[in-house]
Amino acid sequence: MGKLLIVGTVAFDAIETPFGKTDKILGGAATYIALAASQFEVDSAIVSIVGDDLPQEYLDLLTDRDIDISALEIVKGGKTFYWKGKYHNDLNTRDTLVTELNTLEDFNPVVPQDYNDADVVMLGNLHPIVQLGVINQMKKRPKLIILDTMNFWMDNALEDLMEVIKHIDVLTINDEEARQLTGEYSLVRAAQKIFTMGPKFVVIKKGEHGALLFNESQIFFAPALPLEEVFDPTGAGDTFAGGFAGFLAASNDSSFENMKKAVIHGSNLASFSVEKFGAERMLKLDRKEIRERLHQFKKLTQFDIELQ
Ligand code: AMP
Repeated sequence: MGKLLIVGTVAFDAIETPFGKTDKILGGAATYIALAASQFEVDSAIVSIVGDDLPQEYLDLLTDRDIDISALEIVKGGKTFYWKGKYHNDLNTRDTLVTELNTLEDFNPVVPQDYNDADVVMLGNLHPIVQLGVINQMKKRPKLIILDTMNFWMDNALEDLMEVIKHIDVLTINDEEARQLTGEYSLVRAAQKIFTMGPKFVVIKKGEHGALLFNESQIFFAPALPLEEVFDPTGAGDTFAGGFAGFLAASNDSSFENMKKAVIHGSNLASFSVEKFGAERMLKLDRKEIRERLHQFKKLTQFDIELQ
């Protein structure tokens, strides 16, 4: 069984979509990543910080899935990271209405001893200094370091972000962010520019239009499954990253061919995540329906063409 170390937010999210709104519910990048990765044969642990305002039942949802939260720091009297977002009618774009870092403001991550030899490190969206702090605590170089980030950190901590990007193997990022990071409109050129920053692999997420995987001159495209109903896209990117990282940790193979499969697993899990508010759908997923949807993915992309 592979070992996966996950870093990222465990958060309160308040979400508004054209179909409804929720008050503070369980969210955060690390939460979505860990829930998705728990669908694979991996031992996983979260490094993060919350306040004691986060209900115990939320933590139980993680431990019930064998996610190790012993390195999730709970600050007495502290407040948990809070994010509020509102989606536009097309559900592809959203406005961030509130980002309160709270306990995250002075977070010094401590990697648990059992995980300082993890095979895969998934650095979820968080301050790049925290992400770097985790890499520096690893006893041996992980086989794979994957990093996810967002425009918030490009706007607020670009220099630190560029430093951590030097040390990673895979960058997962959405299309708009890839353009912001590189100044290139073409995603092919953007990926090439990201290679010069450090990573050998780049995954560019395009929401309902799928995801692109780049490595040297090779490109692979995975569609997103066309769904009848998309209810709430929050966490889709993190769920994708969790599926991607979880599969790679379980399969212990970081070749381009295996990463193609990882992209499909990530896309498959993300297709469930968007069907309900927050993490609700991810908490009620069984392996049979995951397998069935993988068949749909295969059908969607398979074709026979005779080439001369
Ligand atoms: P996604 O929809 O995949 O971009 O991820 C949404 C999740 O990211 C939410 O659960 C938020 O709690 C979390 N989030 C939003 N803003 C930030 C931020 N600046 N840093 C870390 N996590 C964030």
